[in-house]
Parts: sequence; structure tokens; C-alpha cells
Amino acid sequence: MNKDAYETLSVAAEADVVVIGGGPGGLCAALAAAEEGAEVLLVERYGFLGGMATAGLVNPFMSYFAGEEQVNAGLFQRLIEELQAKGGWSERSKSRRAFDPRIMRFACDAMVQRAGVRLLLHAFLTDAVADEGSVRIGVVASKSGLRAVKGSLFIDASGDGDLAARAGAEFEKGRPEDGFSQPMTLCFRMVGVDEEAMPSREGINELYDAAKAAGEIDNPRENVLFFYTPRKGEIHFNTTRIVKRDATDAVSMTEAELIARKQVEEMARFLCNRAPGFENAYVSEIATQTGVRESRRIMGDYVLREEDVLTARKFPDGIARGSYPIDIHNPAGTGTVIKPVPPGDAYDIPYRCLCPLGFENLLIAGRPISSDHVAHSSHRVMPIAACNGEAAGVAAALCIRDSCDIRSVDTEELRAILKGRGASIYETQAAQVAESGSE
Ligand SMILES: Cc1cc2nc3c(=O)[nH]c(=O)nc-3n(C[C@H](O)[C@H](O)[C@H](O)COP(=O)(O)OP(=O)(O)OC[C@H]3O[C@@H](n4cnc5c(N)ncnc54)[C@H](O)[C@@H]3O)c2cc1C
Repeated sequence: MNKDAYETLSVAAEADVVVIGGGPGGLCAALAAAEEGAEVLLVERYGFLGGMATAGLVNPFMSYFAGEEQVNAGLFQRLIEELQAKGGWSERSKSRRAFDPRIMRFACDAMVQRAGVRLLLHAFLTDAVADEGSVRIGVVASKSGLRAVKGSLFIDASGDGDLAARAGAEFEKGRPEDGFSQPMTLCFRMVGVDEEAMPSREGINELYDAAKAAGEIDNPRENVLFFYTPRKGEIHFNTTRIVKRDATDAVSMTEAELIARKQVEEMARFLCNRAPGFENAYVSEIATQTGVRESRRIMGDYVLREEDVLTARKFPDGIARGSYPIDIHNPAGTGTVIKPVPPGDAYDIPYRCLCPLGFENLLIAGRPISSDHVAHSSHRVMPIAACNGEAAGVAAALCIRDSCDIRSVDTEELRAILKGRGASIYETQAAQVAESGSE
């Protein structure tokens, strides 16, 4: 459709700030912008919020501590408290805390309703109109047909950078050598598991190796990745592996879904047939969609790099922190590369990573912020996505308050507001920043 035709679309909704995507990044962006005084519209393709935490069935929250220090807090901590209050939280493991994904849906609903965020569910952003670095119209497809959403400030929290890409922003995909992104995984759960009878992780992996050798498993993943959940007898699996597919291409995603479901069936059969404790278990839940670890990364004023993560680099405009390691599941097959952040330390994400090159009223939140393939493998996890989302939301509210563009935001004020909201913000001191090599 010619972009001029979008000018005539009827307007589904309009607000100061329009957030596309209701995952951890978009949820926190919308909440923060609304709490800081902006009128906010949150657009989501599914009928519920949570993104990968619900639709992707991803669990648990990966570590958000550096030593004893909690480095992802603010709205993320409030989300945890909401889950706790609703009985959807477990501390069976200190570093990887599990939540109930069904209760996550209730928690997201309660938080957006309390903050006064307007929701437009079942609406998929398909295109955008931008003039001279300013996004004017988001085009959404729904049962009502094509409609426009309009705002003064847009936040792309679609995970895949859909809005930014459609508006013409520069992006990268995958690793430099061949463009392959991290593999996708369809998460699933089994119930009726006798946890006491289950073998150790090593024991399950020995059985897995034997089943692979016998030709029963056609999954390139090297081992079985599973987690305990808040419910006894329910085991969460993050263990399918779909390689060399592109999450921004529906044909490729269709192939991915079919391969992934075959792997779920195969894994469940293997466990029930070979693993003690699974004799009476069955698949109780399969994620709504195959989970996407990596797709577009929207290039911004700063590109967070591998060395920034590995040296726990600090930035004067740091608006969120990360302590999760570099964690690259092999984009082409077997194996996983893990490289830690220096123990007890965390790196900063600069505000500039949220500012797409050439745009003045568009911010990026969550997974697709500006980074290289390696740094992305660390900051992509839910606690960090939630924190950079909160920062995007506060920055958006400041733009509305001051009628200014994203680069006129006073980052010292932004950092102070985030701190006041309970976010973990590194106390930048000139000497420390210089020492860690800030530009
Ligand atoms: C298999 C897998 C395992 C993982 N394991 C962990 C883990 O154990 N712990 C951890 O902390 N993190 C984990 N992660 C990473 C983490 O889940 C994601 O990177 C994180 O959820 C990113 O948050 P987000 O808000 O940026 O994007 P998402 O969670 O992907 O949310 C994006 C939202 O935007 C919506 N959307 C997308 N496109 C459109 C559109 N065009 N129009 C309207 N709405 C749209 C989606 O429906 C979704 O609700 C894992 C990821 C995967 C895929």
C-alpha cells in the first residue's frame, strides 16, 4: 500500500506517547511514561501483555544481581512484588527466580490499569509513516482492518524493532560473519513429574546423549535445559533449538514453528520413555509462539559492544545496568558460548542506545536497543529489558513535558528521576568513568 494512503486511515487511538509491544520492555516503558505524567497508549498484537514472559513462556528471570547487589530494580522490582502479592513467585533458586506465566498476565493487567495506560490489544503494527526523522503514523492491522495510531512520541518495544524498521531506521541482524541470529526456542512445560525420582541434570543429559546416538532426537542443542517452576511437579523446558531462521520473515517463522513443535513432541516422548520421574508426565503447555532471542538491532547514537559488557564499562548517561553474561546459543547448530561480566560488577547501558540514528521522536526499548551481536546476547534478558524500558518511558514523558526531541533530554535529570523511582543507577563519578574508558 502506498504510504500516502495511510493519511486517510481512520485513527484507532491517539496519545502523547505510543508504545508498540507489551513485553517487559514495553510494559515498563508504558508504565513509566504514564506515571511521569504522559498520556500513554500501549499497542499489543496478542490479547494479553508480557511478551516473551507470557506468549513465549520464557522463565525464569535471569540473574539481576552483581554479587549481593540488585542491579535491575525500579519497575522490575515492582513487577516482582505484584507477582508475589498474587502468588506467582518462587525463590527456589536465588540467581534464577521463577514466576507463574499465567499470573504474569494478571500482574501486567493490574499494573497498566492502575497507571492509567490505555490499551489497544489484538493490534499488529504493520507499517509506519515518518517525515524527516519524525514518526507521524503507526499503521495497525486488526479485525477492524487497517487503522492509524498517532502520538507525539513513539517507543518501539516490539522486540523485533518493527516500528523503527518500518519507519526507515538503520538496523543490523545476526552475527557479522553470516547474518545468522541466535536460535529460536519453543518453550514448553510438563506436569505430573515426580521430582524426587528425576535424575540429576547430568543424569538426564546422559540419557539425552544416548537417545541422540540412537537417532531418537533431531535437535542440535547439546543438552536438556530445564527449570523448576513455582508449582511442584511442573517442569519448564527451554531446550528446543531452531537455527538459521529469520524472525522478521513470516515464511521463515512458519518453518520455525513446525520444526519447533516436532522437537517438543520428540523431547516429551524421550522424557516419558527414558527418564525416571516422567512416566506419568505430559505436556501441559506450549508457548503461544516460538521464542525469538535475536532479530533486528536498531542502530543508535551509541552501539553497546562486547568489550563494554566484558569490562563492565560505565557511562555518564547510563540509564540501566546489566550483570548477565554474554550468552550466545550457537546460531548455526550445537554449543553455547558464555563469557561473564567481571564478578560483582555490572555494565551501564547509555541512554544513547535507545536513540535511533536520525530520529527525533522515536525511542527503542527492550531487546532491539543499539548493540552488537555479542553485547545483545547479554542485555536481551527480561530484567534488563524491563529497566531500559522504564528509562525509555521516563525519557518520553520528559519530551512531552518539555515539548522537546529525544536528544534534548537532560540525561542527568533522567538518571535522577530513575533513581527516585527505585532504579539501580550507577553513581557516575568523572574519575571512574575516565578509568573505564568512557568517550
Ligand atoms: C527461548 C528464550 C529463552 C529465554 N530465556 C530467558 C530467561 O530464562 N530469562 C530471561 O530473563 N530472559 C530470557 N530470554 C530473553 C527475554 O525473554 C527477551 O529478550 C525479553 O522478553 C525481551 O523483552 P522485550 O519487551 O524487548 O520483547 P518481547 O518480550 O519479545 O515483547 C515484545 C512484545 O511486542 C509484541 N509485538 C511484537 N511485534 C509487534 C507488532 N508488530 N505490533 C504489535 N505488537 C508487537 C509482542 O507480542 C510482545 O508482546 C529468553 C528469550 C527466548 C526467546
